[in-house]
Amino acid sequence: MKSIYTLNSTEKKILNLIQKKSSITKNKLLNITEMKLTSLNRVMNTLLDNNLILKVGIAESTGGRKPTLYDVNEEYGYIVGVNISRIYSNVVVVNMKMDIIANEKFIMTENHTPKVTVKAISQIINTNLERLKITKDKVLGLGIGTVGPLDRENGIMLNVSHFNASGWKNADIRKMLQDQVKVPILLDNGANTAVIGEALYGYGKGFKNVAYFHCGIGIRTGITNKSSLIRTINDTEDAFGHMVIDINGAPCPCGNRGCIESYVSIPSLINGFRKEAEFGHSTTISKPIADVKHFDICDAAIYGDELSKRLIENAGEILGTGLANFSNLLNPDLIILSGPLINYCSIFYDIVEKTFHTRTYFKKEKKVIFNKGGKFKDNSIALGAAAMFLEQMLES
Ligand SMILES: [Zn+2]
Repeated sequence: MKSIYTLNSTEKKILNLIQKKSSITKNKLLNITEMKLTSLNRVMNTLLDNNLILKVGIAESTGGRKPTLYDVNEEYGYIVGVNISRIYSNVVVVNMKMDIIANEKFIMTENHTPKVTVKAISQIINTNLERLKITKDKVLGLGIGTVGPLDRENGIMLNVSHFNASGWKNADIRKMLQDQVKVPILLDNGANTAVIGEALYGYGKGFKNVAYFHCGIGIRTGITNKSSLIRTINDTEDAFGHMVIDINGAPCPCGNRGCIESYVSIPSLINGFRKEAEFGHSTTISKPIADVKHFDICDAAIYGDELSKRLIENAGEILGTGLANFSNLLNPDLIILSGPLINYCSIFYDIVEKTFHTRTYFKKEKKVIFNKGGKFKDNSIALGAAAMFLEQMLES
């Protein structure tokens, strides 16, 4: 008997292809792989005998006998995807087809230290596995998408900032979670996991280069080329946010001036609003200035508050211009914008997209497609983390 852990590289390659294509015939597999029929038959029999794939139906005949369709066995095993972010965290359980079968989210308060967060995550996992009647031995592993910078190899979060609770700097998050859930765990930047999920199973399917931007407390970026991740040299996800867009611009927490993130992030938007409102600029927002949140500014901008509108427009033009610069160099086909600044502020998204199409260098030659939120919306990071774990298992 074989299992997913003991497949050889050809068996993994075929399983990966069937899992990605879903419902595929032997002929199609022969065309893609250029294998000999006898070799493919041997591999398919191993996968069938060990319940990794199933016969799921009959395809239309192209002359002669109707061919059998094969698909991955969705119940062979399950993967847990976890998103640990600064505003909320969430957990998904997916089957082998990457269908989400459980999903739970919680807000990250000032009490959510790594210890409390890990406990909450493991409770969610246990409750949902029990509800779904999935035994622990059916869980192949767990992927975490979180905030960088990270030591991915050792599963440690490094000099992370802006968490509401203390203890996140140098948190040994993989080991902490492994002690609780006792399955193999992979850790990566959330923007990287999100772009992998979208490229393999979401709106990125069929696109060559996909770029994913998560705009919230900071700007987190993930990029793929032919479904493979492009990693930045020091493995950070916030490099794009620190591209200088105004040489004499506002100071950025990174020590530089005029970075994109010093205009386009929840803290910079709120700080910009507070500064101007305290300086006496009139606004229709009636809340005390200290209580104003980014969604108040977005709502006020939609209803014509001049100060909010100006801040949102400025942030949108800056992000749109930054994306045009990025696109001139890296040439994505699809740009997915997500995160709380995008999801809760439609006028901001519209300005970003409009500015991008005006400012990009190749506008006549190529129309870059924009997408708001991706297919998996708030689940992108968690689902992508599970997808990344499975990719690692199926690597041939
Ligand atoms: Zn900066």
